[in-house]
Amino acid sequence: MSTAPAGFTANLVHADRRGGVMHGGVRKPVHTSVQYGFERVEDLIDVFQGKVKGVHVYTRQSSPTVAALEAKINQMEGGVGTICFATGMAAVTAVFFSLLKAGDHLVCSHFVFGNTNSLCGTLTGLGVQVTRVDPTDAAAVAAAMQPNTRMVFVESLANPGTQIPDFEGIAAICQAHAALFVVDNTVTSPWLFQPGTVGADLVINALSKSIAGHGVAMGGSVTDTGRFDWRGYPHIFAPYRQGDPAQWGLTQVRRKGLRDMGGAMMGQAAHDVATGAETLALRVDHSSATALALAQMLEAHPAVARVCYPGLPSHPQHARAQALFKAGAWLLSFELRDAAQTNAVINRLQLAIPATGLADTRTLVIPVAPTIFWEAGPEVRARMDIADGLVRVSVGLEDAADLLADFSQALQGA
Ligand SMILES: *Cc1c(COP(=O)(O)O)cnc(C)c1O
Repeated sequence: MSTAPAGFTANLVHADRRGGVMHGGVRKPVHTSVQYGFERVEDLIDVFQGKVKGVHVYTRQSSPTVAALEAKINQMEGGVGTICFATGMAAVTAVFFSLLKAGDHLVCSHFVFGNTNSLCGTLTGLGVQVTRVDPTDAAAVAAAMQPNTRMVFVESLANPGTQIPDFEGIAAICQAHAALFVVDNTVTSPWLFQPGTVGADLVINALSKSIAGHGVAMGGSVTDTGRFDWRGYPHIFAPYRQGDPAQWGLTQVRRKGLRDMGGAMMGQAAHDVATGAETLALRVDHSSATALALAQMLEAHPAVARVCYPGLPSHPQHARAQALFKAGAWLLSFELRDAAQTNAVINRLQLAIPATGLADTRTLVIPVAPTIFWEAGPEVRARMDIADGLVRVSVGLEDAADLLADFSQALQGA
């Protein structure tokens, strides 16, 4: 069977066959077994003593269906290894809690997923100091660095404000400090952008979003891009400082962050995410084109005060998006001139659904201040530039003309 390099989607849809076929099936079966048996007990002992690698012993640590998905995510992100988790938050948690210790300092973007922001509060309680910065400006990151800074965490395209970090600037700062540069690539996805190409050390994807794309399965992943020198990282436990140093970090994330913390993905979810991933490029191209058209229509509308979308020339990081991303992605947010009309406009939508969540096949709309950023409080909302009337739109797969017509009619009279 040919293993010749091909395009993004060709590689993805043929990955299962290239990994070995059972019964001629062109897709991998779903392995549901939690336990794995061995011919002889000596084989089992060898696995525990590290003499045999790459076999599965218990599904909380690894399984064949999840391993097949890990290989696909790794191929898409161009990494040296990938680990999958039950959810995106399990992946974020594993990175923070397996690689940081009390006394460390984390520099985190102001503009991160609400639950990641909440998790930073938990870290603070456990003795990790957290400094929030505006990552669109590398100078702000440089000013926040301390001798004990171990990690800088950003999102490639922030939700809901669509801010884009100065990746290259931050990567250079991290390299000078031997700090890990972690990028959550969920909104752009590896089809629009591969953070490893601009210096990210670890890349996180919430697979529940762009990569699955159908809104019927959850998952998360951590990919090591192979850029970081783990030999200089003081927190790698002795048993994991063995073999290829490029794998030390991921070995620790798998043992401490997956095996011990327990946020394991099950085979059926891995299969569902992998099925969704096959259409990633097609879906994201389509929804990004629709999002651009919707953003342009909203920006020109007299009832709309502001639109945040990286594909618009008015976006502060428009040039960065043009240079680094294949398209502006499927996420936008907007504010009405009369914020008091926000709920009425959303209620008039016929196609777009008032709902939480992102990257479904259906367009989802939510006013963020009274919902997903309510618990965060007014201070965090002000820092994140989230006005009371800000509406987030996660553009789905509907025909662009239908979606634009829906928003047009909903805005009438606003
Ligand atoms: C949704 C999301 C997460 C968390 O993913 P879950 O699968 O919902 O746990 C993390 N980061 C970003 C940017 C997200 O949008």
